[in-house]
Amino acid sequence: MIFCYVIIGLIVILPFSILCCFDILENEKLTKKNKKKKMLKNQMREDAAQTEEHSSNYLAELPFANIEIMKEFDIKISERRQKKKRKRTLGDETEDDSDKKKKKKHLRPNYFISVPITNPKIHASIKAIQTLIIEEDDRYTKAMIPLSTLHMTLLVTYLSSEEEVNIAISVIKEVKESIQRILQGEPLLLPFHGIGHFRNEVVFVKMVEAEDFLKLKKITEVLRRAFEEKGILAGDSKDFKPHLTFMKLSRAPKLRSQGIKKLDPKLYKNFENQNFGNEKLVNLDLCSMLKKKQPNGYYHCEASITVGKLDCVHKLYT
Ligand code: AMP
Repeated sequence: MIFCYVIIGLIVILPFSILCCFDILENEKLTKKNKKKKMLKNQMREDAAQTEEHSSNYLAELPFANIEIMKEFDIKISERRQKKKRKRTLGDETEDDSDKKKKKKHLRPNYFISVPITNPKIHASIKAIQTLIIEEDDRYTKAMIPLSTLHMTLLVTYLSSEEEVNIAISVIKEVKESIQRILQGEPLLLPFHGIGHFRNEVVFVKMVEAEDFLKLKKITEVLRRAFEEKGILAGDSKDFKPHLTFMKLSRAPKLRSQGIKKLDPKLYKNFENQNFGNEKLVNLDLCSMLKKKQPNGYYHCEASITVGKLDCVHKLYT
């Protein structure tokens, strides 16, 4: 009788224990798989973070380091150019998918029209303010704009190929006469006074909105329209805010990790009423944001037009 019970017990318990063993083995396999997946995910996350840090360091050097600015300037790639690219790259993806990717890819401007700032008085005043800020807190050293790149941006644009760069070069050369007509042989003075900022992340010297301000606005408009006629969009004139940047947070990404997300206005409050001097408009440059800078430290220029006379520059500096 006992023997029968043992046999029945074995018949019932044995398959159950075998099933349990399989189950345990299967669970172990799954845990191992999950662990591997987790490790892979972490590795990918680390890689992505490193890539992001690398590219943001590089982009910090650019005048338009912030993609949001594209939106602010309302820069869109023209419909004609978008269609051209769509043809080239459409494969298995839907148009929507590809558009989304392209929007991300092409938002960042890569060229700008620059007024180089060369007046030694402006350079000296900016150097003084930069030095004082650094003396206050040397963590800001990297956030300072080198004097060799001091410029005023008139407009930014995105040029997608050598062909478009060449179009932009011919545009800037063609508008030279129209710009000279606006100037009527008179010097155009850009007076700099006081300090302003964009979202406490970019600090600049303000250009005084005096008589010549309107002429500069007109010149920018002429350039913008000439670009647009050739299918190159170059922002919007609504927010014409000529400024001379001397410090920006994006140049010093480490500050963020040190808890500095904004520039404290106290850093420059003593200069709010300072006169920085005048720049005379002489040259307009088509500059690359990405190409290697010139040996003198200034941006790589694809073209430069001279619209003002150099002769009386020193008399005009105040
Ligand atoms: P720039 O002086 O043109 O080299 O510009 C320096 C930085 O200021 C850019 O990287 C932009 O992030 C920012 N910026 C330029 N213009 C504007 C604007 N009108 N509004 C907000 N931010 C701007």
